[in-house]
Amino acid sequence: MNDKIWLSSPHMGGNELNYIHEAFDANWVAPLGPNVNGFEEDLEKFLCVDVKVAALSAGTAALHLALIECGVGYGDEVICQSMTFSASANPIAYQGAIPVFVDSEPDTWNMCPVQLREAIRDRFSKGKKPKAIIVVHLYGMPAKMDEILAVAKEFDIPVIEDAAEALGSSYKGQACGTFGRFGVLSFNGNKIITTSGGGALVCHSQADKDKAVFLSTQARDDAPHYQHSHIGYNYRMSNICAGIGRGQMEVLKDRVEARRRMTDFYVALFNDIEGVAVLTEPSADYYSNHWLAAITIDPEVAGKTREELRLAFLEDNIESRPLWKPMHLQPVFADAPYYGGRVAERLFDNGLCLPSGSNLMDAERDRIATVIKKTFSSY
Ligand SMILES: *Cc1c(COP(=O)(O)O)cnc(C)c1O
Repeated sequence: MNDKIWLSSPHMGGNELNYIHEAFDANWVAPLGPNVNGFEEDLEKFLCVDVKVAALSAGTAALHLALIECGVGYGDEVICQSMTFSASANPIAYQGAIPVFVDSEPDTWNMCPVQLREAIRDRFSKGKKPKAIIVVHLYGMPAKMDEILAVAKEFDIPVIEDAAEALGSSYKGQACGTFGRFGVLSFNGNKIITTSGGGALVCHSQADKDKAVFLSTQARDDAPHYQHSHIGYNYRMSNICAGIGRGQMEVLKDRVEARRRMTDFYVALFNDIEGVAVLTEPSADYYSNHWLAAITIDPEVAGKTREELRLAFLEDNIESRPLWKPMHLQPVFADAPYYGGRVAERLFDNGLCLPSGSNLMDAERDRIATVIKKTFSSY
């Protein structure tokens, strides 16, 4: 059996262990310490906007805290992009709130601004004002932020940007994660950089960050004993994980370059295969980190389905994965309102994510190319 080719695997830069050794030497083996502060500063510098970053245990934790800080509570409605990973929507349920899902548009695969407007108007007509809008930059592709922010502003609803997949992406020159009232980053093991597991909340004021840190460290009041006036969480990032993050930040730009080259590789490969389209930037306004390269296959034209390609990859021990199954089609959210047509549904039916790791070698790309050529040559 050939070695496994992963969709996206951790890719260390080399300096991670040095930061971890420093943490051990100083005995900062705790959810606070110099690496946590250093990692937050590295991220603030990288995002190139005047933001305050709170390092947390997961992107999901960051989304949860963003909802709390937006005042989302029991019975409230929160609008969420339907085409996404479940972690975008689950924190809405943690708060006892109700997700309202919105379809994608075909250019970026992200939230459709027209359907967003439609959803808000209809919720208003039912006497419900959504408390927040969660927009996602899927696979690193920036959403249509100008249009989405305009709708959000018109109805005065805060935007939470799920940039878990989009560190290193930008829209009109501004970093993804810095547009909304809050931005969310993830450093899970399969993301563009990793802390093994971790996330961050991007805030626009020190007060918002302070509140996130307070809530993420069990919400302890300022007293010599343990006193609590709020429900707290154990969501802070550990100083060990942050050490990995500091090492990863040193190579983030290289990782983005390598991922973008993977998408270029697929664009060239599928150039003369009819019926297959690679997700690429709709215009120069968009700069994607191309966390995962993704394609759609029109089976009528290509003569193959995405499932046939997935199984062909699997036979050669190569991992590929259908696109995220839209949340409005998930059993757990069957009762949630949905606005839109079948854009996300069709993407799910025909879409596939391909191996995209920044650590893939030429020999592995050759194996990938061979499977693709073999699969589509028989038609
Ligand atoms: C990975 C991911 C998250 C969750 O981040 P974790 O760090 O794994 O909790 C949220 N949203 C999207 C779109 C993701 O891809």
